[in-house]
Amino acid sequence: MTIPFFPPDLFAADRDALVETVRMIGGGPAQKFILGDQTRRLERELGHMLGAADVVACGSGTGALTLILHAMGIGAGDEVIVPAFGCAPLAATVVNLGAVPVFADIRPHTMVLDPEEVEPLIGARTRAIVGAHMFSVMADMPRLREIADRHGLRLVEDSAVAQGATLRGRPAGTWGDAGLFSFVQVKTFGGPGEGGVVVTDDTSLGHTVRMLRNHGQDGQRFRYERIGYNSRFDEVLAAFQLHRLPGLAARLERRARIADYYTERFTELRDRGIIPPPPGREGRCYYVYCLLADDRDALGDHLAVHGVASHVYYPVPLPRQPAFAHLAAERAWPRAEDACRRILAIPVYPHLTDCQVEHIADTVCAFAGEHAAVRGPDTGPR
Ligand SMILES: *Cc1c(COP(=O)(O)O)cnc(C)c1O
Repeated sequence: MTIPFFPPDLFAADRDALVETVRMIGGGPAQKFILGDQTRRLERELGHMLGAADVVACGSGTGALTLILHAMGIGAGDEVIVPAFGCAPLAATVVNLGAVPVFADIRPHTMVLDPEEVEPLIGARTRAIVGAHMFSVMADMPRLREIADRHGLRLVEDSAVAQGATLRGRPAGTWGDAGLFSFVQVKTFGGPGEGGVVVTDDTSLGHTVRMLRNHGQDGQRFRYERIGYNSRFDEVLAAFQLHRLPGLAARLERRARIADYYTERFTELRDRGIIPPPPGREGRCYYVYCLLADDRDALGDHLAVHGVASHVYYPVPLPRQPAFAHLAAERAWPRAEDACRRILAIPVYPHLTDCQVEHIADTVCAFAGEHAAVRGPDTGPR
């Protein structure tokens, strides 16, 4: 009865193909289970779609971020500017390389890294900026690019959630010195397991990432050029992703259409305490669809009562997390705090039926209606 936030039947239509893929790789004469022909084909096809010089498949989105930062030479004594609002890998990958994440606040409505907050944080130790696309909106990559260039910094684009999005005609993942995608199950090009890719036009960086993902080997087995990682890619996953790739555009379009419909319905709720993401398709990605709601918890409860699962992420800014608090100076991130108080994600996956989508929109609108009535007209300017 309840509409789940992420559906359990993501791959229902492709189950036979998945089993066939396991049979093909598992029974194939090569008995090659990692970094084989399927992985190379997936890398080539994604590179072709993106117009990128190199795509390197690796163990996960987090692995991709680690490999990029490591290949850029980020290490002890360096600072990397990251968004204060986002997921753990944005800061953890930096810390794990011995560097220090410096948290910058976000833009209030779109919740992506605010370039105006980045610039004052740049100092003598700053080496890189990590911009991340957040759920429904791409970061302001042109402006971040301009700031990075002016200060001689590397620009990393965490495009884990934005595969298929474009800004000024340029695909997400290709704006930074390197970008990445995650193939963890729930992402827009998720698969049945773990995986990710690094995307870059910097062939030297790509070459280093390729070495680092497989213990620092450069083609020659058991010769270690660099201290690397095990962040390799699985052939079964590569074959399955190749099978799913032709359908990706249609699935993304379905997500975008659902989002268009939501935004159309929700725009009039703006003065009733519920704000949808900005409309349009430019620089939009619909991994999840996030509302900003004054009474977020009450809205989440209302949705649950009416059979709609929703999700709060992220509930706490990164520099307020127990893991990272010791790295955070006595600074404040008021917009990240505000986003954490108000954000609520509702389902937006491609195989929601029109009827379910309408029910979700109706339920949000009904809440706003009742809510406005309860609050009355004298709530002051908003
Ligand atoms: C999912 C995600 C990652 C990590 O990807 P994994 O494949 O889960 O390691 C990194 N950054 C962002 C913004 C993400 O959403």
